[in-house]
Amino acid sequence: MMQLKVTAMMDAELCATIQQRMQEPGTKLTPEFIIAAMGGEIAPSLPFLTPQQNQHFGVSLRRLDSVAQAAAAQGVTLMVDAEQSHLQGALRLLTLALIGRHNRGAEPRVWSTVQAYVRGAEQVLTMEASWARRYGARYGVKLVRGAYLEEERLRAHNLGVPDPLHPTLEATHISYGACLELALALVVQDQARLMVATHNEASVMQAVQRMEALRIPRRAGVCFGQLYGMGDHVSLALGRAGFSAFKSVPVGPEVSVLPYLARRAQEHRQGALLRTALERRLLAQELRRRLLQWAKRGGNGAK
Ligand SMILES: Cc1cc2nc3c(=O)[nH]c(=O)nc-3n(C[C@H](O)[C@H](O)[C@H](O)COP(=O)(O)OP(=O)(O)OC[C@H]3O[C@@H](n4cnc5c(N)ncnc54)[C@H](O)[C@@H]3O)c2cc1C
Repeated sequence: MMQLKVTAMMDAELCATIQQRMQEPGTKLTPEFIIAAMGGEIAPSLPFLTPQQNQHFGVSLRRLDSVAQAAAAQGVTLMVDAEQSHLQGALRLLTLALIGRHNRGAEPRVWSTVQAYVRGAEQVLTMEASWARRYGARYGVKLVRGAYLEEERLRAHNLGVPDPLHPTLEATHISYGACLELALALVVQDQARLMVATHNEASVMQAVQRMEALRIPRRAGVCFGQLYGMGDHVSLALGRAGFSAFKSVPVGPEVSVLPYLARRAQEHRQGALLRTALERRLLAQELRRRLLQWAKRGGNGAK
């Protein structure tokens, strides 16, 4: 599996411009238009972009498509990361186009990411899965809480616009749980693959319990993800109980991965460290107990 940040390949300002223009009535900025542009069937010439921006747009689309193609050829699943909300609409457009182009086989090769801390995350997940189904493509989704909390709050405050995120951590937890239920229901109907990407023991426990109740096999349709250096007790307990647990490792020069590392440091303050030490110890113990119990019973009978 490989994660990909679109803004490493396409200028973030261009993504923001595209997102703004997507809201306009009669826009041709649809996944179908991007699919045709990625395939070279049409030139992606947009009247509101300068010739240089149009050229960069076309090159970036081809670049994204060739990364997805190379990943698919190697049997590598490509997970497109979610980024800041003023870009995310454009990134979703590009991700759906990649899904449309590369997910026509038995398994989804390109996966989207849904951030539960965004208001309306459940609608986003439902919309993406419906679009993929209508287009005849397979859908895969990485479910996260969201990594840009402080930046998003500051931006909304500075611009005097409504905050796009849930107002409290508790509201984000509720949203994550609801998105998880929706995604698991899609997995049961064979309409999605899911990565439960979190270090939150309660969310992992919810996923494991619901998988058991819905009779979803441990290694089919659902996998788990934690960041390298975080939540190792969760990854190890999951692995020992026979679930697919992945560690996400950032790759790149120090200067490029520093903002990523800074966001991780923030998260430790926002989430993980806010839970009391006792609560964390009890949750970890309970998670281990339930997973090992399940492993001893042979899970839900799945291979
Ligand atoms: C494998 C993997 C891939 C990831 N990929 C992405 C990605 O593509 N895009 C992305 O944005 N993030 C990504 N993340 C990071 C993720 O969004 C979270 O920032 C991180 O996992 C911490 O959330 P948690 O569920 O693990 O933990 P928790 O500690 O339970 O939750 C912390 C999170 O809760 C939310 N939160 C905290 N305080 C508040 C508040 N006051 N109001 C509202 N919400 C609040 C924030 O999202 C914060 O990050 C990824 C994480 C993993 C494990």
